[in-house]
Amino acid sequence: MTPRIAPSLALFGVTLLLTACGGVGDAARPTGEEGTVGIAMPTQSSERWINDGANMVAEFEERGFGADLQYAEDVVEDQVSQIENMITRGADVLVIAAIDGEALGDVLDMAASNDIPVIAYDRLIRGSENVDYYATFDNFEVGVLQGRYIEEALDPEKEEGPFNIELFGGSPDDNNAYFFNDGAMSVLQPHIDDGVLRVRSGQTSMEQIATQRWDGSIAQARMDNLLSAHYSDENVHAVLSPYDGISLGVIESLRAVGYGSEDRPLPVVTGQDAEVASVKSIIAGEQTQTVFKDTRALAAQTVDMVEALLAGEEVPVNDTETYDNGVKVVPSYLLEPVSVDIDNYHEVLVGSGYYEESDL
Ligand code: BGC
Repeated sequence: MTPRIAPSLALFGVTLLLTACGGVGDAARPTGEEGTVGIAMPTQSSERWINDGANMVAEFEERGFGADLQYAEDVVEDQVSQIENMITRGADVLVIAAIDGEALGDVLDMAASNDIPVIAYDRLIRGSENVDYYATFDNFEVGVLQGRYIEEALDPEKEEGPFNIELFGGSPDDNNAYFFNDGAMSVLQPHIDDGVLRVRSGQTSMEQIATQRWDGSIAQARMDNLLSAHYSDENVHAVLSPYDGISLGVIESLRAVGYGSEDRPLPVVTGQDAEVASVKSIIAGEQTQTVFKDTRALAAQTVDMVEALLAGEEVPVNDTETYDNGVKVVPSYLLEPVSVDIDNYHEVLVGSGYYEESDL
């Protein structure tokens, strides 16, 4: 997929900076008239973060900022040292999508003692007072959209149950994972309680269903176990998956035991991020749903917040209650997620220019 904000500029910016900042502490500081922004992203293994990074670099550069973009490939210590280097190189502000939301306390103390404000990007940074703002999507709503999709697809009010469902959660060190799960369970739990939805494995708590680092292969292995232990004589009708990479792992596992045929249709499988592979899977009739979070909008919102912050103006927020990081409630700006399936993917994803027809 190509990012739609000034794609060539974005790609140029990313390549340039990744090359320039490959070593530790040895790179020149990418400067801009308006200041320099250090952008710490978790991983390039998932497309969404590549888009987030590229969109932000493009948007920041367009508005006169230098952008120092780093990916840590899901290694927490690397993310910490990347942020230390951004501070040493003189970043004016930090935008951070944490790998482990609890692991950044010390490096954020260092930022604070250098008077560098911090915006948590997409994922809340927990356990530190040195988080100034949070730019994200309505994470509870993401889960509600997934839960509601399952509810509507199985239609427990009309169809006779019980329906078998299995639940997957996100990474236990990511605050978002709990919000997604709480949102989904706010819809599904009443149906589990009244017996219309049945979790044959009995695995319903986050401790049981979490997926370390959102890793699709871990989810696939867990699904293999669930299928062999609990579904030799019955089919699974729905799988709550919080993220597209997990959804595809689950679908692999299901297909390996014969789901996806006429007598054994694939269950309803939710997802998140509208990644190309999952949109293709939706078009192919495998994954059922995903939740689109427009990374262009999140990038633009974050740049607005940074501009206001550095200009000493009022930073735009629309939620000052929800995101308590254990030390303080972090003032937040929440964007709206959108549920996508076979019926609206074209309008939402191609119609908005997020993808080209040919990407899919
Ligand atoms: C993000 C999701 C993403 C997940 C895995 C979460 O923090 O909010 O959009 O699917 O991480 O990368």
